[in-house]
Formats: sequence, C-alpha cells, structure tokens
Amino acid sequence: MFNSLSTRIAAFGALVFVAVLSLIWMLVDASIQTRDSFRWVSHSAEVIETMDDALSALREAESGQRGFVLTRNASFADPADARVAVARDAMVRLDRLTADNPTQNMRARELRSLMDRRMAMLSGTLADARMGDYDKARTAIASGAGRDLMTMLTLRIDSFLAEERALRLTRIDAADRRLGWVRQLALVGGPIVALAILSVSLLLIWGIRRPAGVISRAMTALGEGDRSTRVTTAMGSREFARLASGYNAMADQLQAAVADQGRSEQELKAAHGELLRNSNILRERGEVIELLGGMAHRMQAARTDEELAQVIRVFMPRVLPGIPGALYAHNNSRNLLVPITGWSGFTPAEDGFAPDQCWALRRGQSHCVTQPGGDIVCGHVDRQAIYHCEPLLAGGEVIGTLYLEGVIGEESGFRLTVMAENISSALVNHRLQRGLREQTIRDPLTGLFNRRYMEEALTIEIARARRSAVPLSAVMCDVDHFKRFNDEFGHEAGDVVLQAVAHEMRSRFRDGDIVCRYGGEEFAVIAPGTTAQALAGRVEDVRKGIAEIVLRHGGRALGSTSMSFGIATWDENMAGDGAALLQLADAALYRAKREGRNRTVIDMPQAA
Ligand code: GH3
Ligand code: MG
Ligand code: MG
Repeated sequence: MFNSLSTRIAAFGALVFVAVLSLIWMLVDASIQTRDSFRWVSHSAEVIETMDDALSALREAESGQRGFVLTRNASFADPADARVAVARDAMVRLDRLTADNPTQNMRARELRSLMDRRMAMLSGTLADARMGDYDKARTAIASGAGRDLMTMLTLRIDSFLAEERALRLTRIDAADRRLGWVRQLALVGGPIVALAILSVSLLLIWGIRRPAGVISRAMTALGEGDRSTRVTTAMGSREFARLASGYNAMADQLQAAVADQGRSEQELKAAHGELLRNSNILRERGEVIELLGGMAHRMQAARTDEELAQVIRVFMPRVLPGIPGALYAHNNSRNLLVPITGWSGFTPAEDGFAPDQCWALRRGQSHCVTQPGGDIVCGHVDRQAIYHCEPLLAGGEVIGTLYLEGVIGEESGFRLTVMAENISSALVNHRLQRGLREQTIRDPLTGLFNRRYMEEALTIEIARARRSAVPLSAVMCDVDHFKRFNDEFGHEAGDVVLQAVAHEMRSRFRDGDIVCRYGGEEFAVIAPGTTAQALAGRVEDVRKGIAEIVLRHGGRALGSTSMSFGIATWDENMAGDGAALLQLADAALYRAKREGRNRTVIDMPQAA
C-alpha cells in the first residue's frame, strides 16, 4: 500500500493534518481550562469580596445603631438601615455564588440566617430607639446578645473566608499548572510536529530525487547515444518503478528501432552494392561482347589456320586474362585433335591427342578439375593441373576442344560460353571455306591440285624464283598405255589406277612441291628450289615406286602400270607465264614415250 509515492504523500499529509489538529485542539483545550481556572479564582475572589462586603455592611449598621442609641441622633439610624439592606443583598448573592460548592453554600446559608438574626436584633433596637424607647434599646445593646451573635458570626465568617481563600489558592495553582502545560505543549509539541514534517518531507524529497536522478542520468546517456543503459525498477515507489520500466521499454524499442534501421541501411547498402556490381558486370559484359564480336569478325575473316591461330592468340589473353590455354581441332580424318594454337605462355604438344583422351569430348560437356584430385584428369593433360576443358560443338557434332589452365569463375564462364560458340562457328566456317577452296583448286578424283591451280602457282613460283634467284623445275608425266585399263577393266578400274598413281606421287614428292593432275592420265609437278638434275633422283624413285604398285579393283588384279617423266628447269630468259617451262617438260616427256616409256628424260638445252 505504501509502495505508492502518492499514497505516502497522502498518508503523510493526513498525519500532519491530524498532528497539527491535535496540537491545536490540545492548545485550545488547555487554554479553555486555564481560562476556567482563572474564572474559578476570580469566582473565589468575588465570594470573599461579597462576604467582606456583607460583614463590613453589618458592622457599619451596628455602629450606626449604637451611635443613634447613644446620641439619640437619628442621623445615625438611616445609614444603618441602608447597610442592613446591603448586607442582606450580599448574603443573597453569596448564596447564589456558592451554589457550585455545597459545603460553602451550606455555610453561607448558616451565615445568612445568623446575619438575618443579627439584623433582626439591630432592626428591633433601632425601632425601639425611633419610638423613643432609648432605654430599651440601650438595655438590648448592653445585654451583649448582639455582641455575642456578632462574635459568633465573625468566627463563622473567618472560617468561611479561610475555606474560600484556601479554595482560591488551589484554583490559582490549578490555573498556573494549566498555563505551564499550555506553554510546554506549545514549546514541545510545536517543534516535534515541525521536526516530523521536516524529516518526512526530506524523506519524500529523497524518495523523489534519487529515482528522478537515476532516470534523468539514463535519459541523458540515451540522448548522447548510449542506448544500452537500463535503470533498475527497484525505485522505492510504484510511480518511479513504472517510470523506470517505461523508460526501459522505450530504450528497448529505440534500440530495436535503431538496430532495424541499421539492418535496413545494411540491406540498402548491400542492394546498392549488388546494383553497382550488376551494372559493372553489365558494363564489363558489354565491353566483353564488343571484344568477342571483334574477335569473331576477325576469326570469320581468317583465311588460313595460321590466321585463325593468330586471332585466337591475340584475343584470348584479353577475353580470359591470366588463363593460359590452347585450342585443339579435329584433323580431317577426325581421329586426332591437333593444336591450332596456344596462348599466354602455354604451348600445346604438336602431335595432339585422340578424342577419347579428353573427358569433355567423351561426355560432350565441360570438364573441369578445380583442385588437385578433385576430378578425373584428361589423358591429354600431362600433370596434376587445375584446368577446364570446353568441348566445341557445331550442329551437335564435336569439332574441337578448348583447354584452359585455371578455374573458370562465373563471369569467365559467360565469356567462355560466348567465345566457345564463336570459335566453333569460326572453325566450321573456316572448314567450309577451306572445303570450297579445295573444291576449286583440287581434282576431285585424285585429291591433287588441278591444272588451274598449278598454272597460278607456277606464275607465283616463277616470280619468286626470279626475285630470289633460286632454281625452279617442272615435271610432266603420263601413265603408260593407260587406255588399256579402261578398255580391259572398265572406266572405274582406270580411275582406281589414277588414284593409286596420284597417292604414290603425293607421298613421294616434298611438301613444298606442287603435285597436280594436268588432265586425263597426265600429271605435272612444280618443284621450287631445285634443278632438273637434282630432281631427277626423286623422280626416278617415284617412277620405280609406281612401277611396283600392285593394282586391284573389285577383287580383280589389274596388274601393274608405269609412267614416263619429262623434267625441265626454268630459265630466267623464259616468258613469265610458265608455258615455256611446261612445254620443255612436255617435250622431254614426249621423248621418254618415244624412247620406250617407263623412264625419265631431262630436258637438256644442248639436247634441244
Ligand atoms: P600412251 O602410253 O601413249 O600414253 O598410251 P595411252 O593409252 O596412255 O594414251 P592415250 O592418250 O591414247 O589414252 C589416254 C586415255 O586415257 C584416253 C582416255 O579415254 C583415258 N582417260 C582420260 N582421262 C581419263 C579418266 O579420267 N579416267 C579414265 N578411266 N580414263 C581416262
Ligand atoms: Mg598415257
Ligand atoms: Mg596421255
């Protein structure tokens, strides 16, 4: 109940009210009593005074009576009558005044009757004297009856007065005591009540100031940013306990709100960061797409494998910085993946690898080893590398693979995907172009260059020979009695012979030599950097090799064949188109035919 500050203040107020009221009541009561005491004192004084009045009036009446009787002067009698009346009034008053005190009242009545007797005697004597009977009056006085009665009366009055005086003293004492009590009450009760009010006020002030100070300090700390401060709810009063828990709840909510705000700011920051990252990624992707587009254009425009390799070597380090690698593509017979090029310091093995050595090709999807021992390593990777193999597909068919050393992240993955498609399409395009070109420059039956290509190549080689002063030779050759194969075994068998001869020639001449089918069963070879004499040995080898071919077609033996060869060397005096050189070689061939076939004839200027 007294947990509440307001209850305490109300109780204290009530207490103070009661205390002050009690003090006032006691003071008022004491003062009333004191006043009463003083009234009784003055009452006693009035009684004494009335008694004295009565006695002195009686004495004055007595002496007036005596004077009248002795002097016979009537002027003494009149005052005596007046004094008797005064004494009688005084005694009547005394009877009334002592009504509160039965003992004194009884005495007063006795005195009154004695007084009445004395006054009756006086009145009798005066009446005698007035009637002129002075002797009777004198005899009455001389009898001493009046004197005796007066003596007795005086004695009784003295006793009555002594009693009344004693009563007055007692009443004065009582009045004094009450006055002292009032003084003491005022002197002690007042300061006690004041002290009690002061101490309880101090307690109340302390009970307010202490929790108010605690809460005010916490609020100041909160205002300065310290949101962790909480106050105890043991505040000594219910009101401050409520204020403390209210403050704590407010601080909790504020802290939660600030934390919420902090979280929202973090989320906003994260979202902003994400947005920035995404826009950076988009910008980078835009740049990469531009880069990849440039690379794709160049790859499409590349005419040769080497040009394609150059484009890839230049662009790959820009598209995938810091990731060395190599591009492998299927060879014509599709049994080997041969290197097109490597970049960023990686040099692929020249001999390539079989398709089944690569897990990306076997599965038709990316294969990556992101940590040593993390996945099976492809056969073409010769060490425990962290790498990525990306199969290159076109129309669902594998056309090559990209080998990349390192881990491909998400962003690099995007680049890789786009680039793999570009390279695949460039490779396909390149293969198609090469196929078309091959068709225009090669003879479809034998796979050798055709006559048109040979004539173009001859012009270029003559120009080079003229420039660099290196020799240049040409060979013309013709299958001996070829017509017989056609006639005996059919045209298809004839084709088989031509293919066998072409294969033998292509495999025996040097890579730099241009071997072509000149027309029918006639062939021509352009051999840069060599003279007819130097070339003759190789031609002889070819001739012998052809002679040794065992020809078969459709399960039938076609027998063997032979060829005649004519060789000529270019001379800078010849016309620039090469026709003269071919004519010389053809002339040498004609001689070889004439001289019995299956032989080699060198065009000799001295022989011409
Ligand atoms: P020689 O030893 O004098 O050169 O006799 P030959 O029979 O080889 O000469 P000829 O020029 O009389 O015969 C060439 C024949 O080759 C004529 C033609 O029918 C045949 N021929 C030309 N081109 C082809 C071809 O593409 N396929 C086949 N099967 N035969 C061809
Ligand atoms: Mg022939
Ligand atoms: Mg011929």
